[in-house]
Amino acid sequence: MTEPVLRISGITKSFGALRASEDVTLDLCAGEIHALIGPNGAGKSTLIAQIAGALAPDSGTIKLEGRDVTAQSTVARARAGLARTFQISSLAMEDTVLQNAMLGALGARQGRLGLFGSVMRDTGLRETARAALDEVGLGEFAGFRVGDLSHGQRRQLEVAVALTLKPRVLLMDEPMAGLGAEGTAQMVPMLQRLKHTAPILLIEHDMDAVFQLADRISVLVYGQIIATDAPDAIRTDPRVREAYLGD
Ligand code: ADP
Ligand code: MG
Repeated sequence: MTEPVLRISGITKSFGALRASEDVTLDLCAGEIHALIGPNGAGKSTLIAQIAGALAPDSGTIKLEGRDVTAQSTVARARAGLARTFQISSLAMEDTVLQNAMLGALGARQGRLGLFGSVMRDTGLRETARAALDEVGLGEFAGFRVGDLSHGQRRQLEVAVALTLKPRVLLMDEPMAGLGAEGTAQMVPMLQRLKHTAPILLIEHDMDAVFQLADRISVLVYGQIIATDAPDAIRTDPRVREAYLGD
């Protein structure tokens, strides 16, 4: 087997007496969607924050393509290709879809954001942004104001902004949250396509979407991974049913 693209080994993180991550070991291989599921408060978002570099683990290592990035800043990790989908609040609602994607591409190149007239005329940035919009199916909406998009389309735009980083790995924390059936139905095929661009570590509460999308599933309970397996095996695992999926 080839080396995993992302390898998380023995990550431990405490908040006072609370163990939010306890010896978490997890990997992500080329072309896969690896879903991380578990009850509220299990430590899923805390783990993503440590992988992205927003939070330092107490111990353990994070390797991207064989390189140890555990001590690197969020910006250095983003440049190395660890992309996290941004919160909706990071989009500029008054600007167009294309402008937002170009600002993302600019951030990827310079590690900071800023809006200048010259930026919008930069053909390299424009091409990167257009390609990312096409990849998420928003190409026709380039000239729309973000404020006029549907909730689902804004989610797609966040993914496009992440794609302008030319990511090696996509970290997604609940991309379907708050989307109706229609938004979820658009998101599922998009993620199925995107995993071939970059493997996806997917946190998601919508179990129908998880079982449609995931190649492997890890179950996190009280900061510990209790099982990692193919979806069919997870669905019938008695420990998982007891701790999370329920009967
Ligand atoms: P999940 O995403 O699985 O719902 P979180 O990772 O958000 O869970 O939280 C895991 C646990 O860590 C929760 O008990 C939460 O209250 C706690 N926690 C998260 N961030 C902090 C923090 N900065 N300080 C203290 N406790 C935190
Ligand atoms: Mg969370």
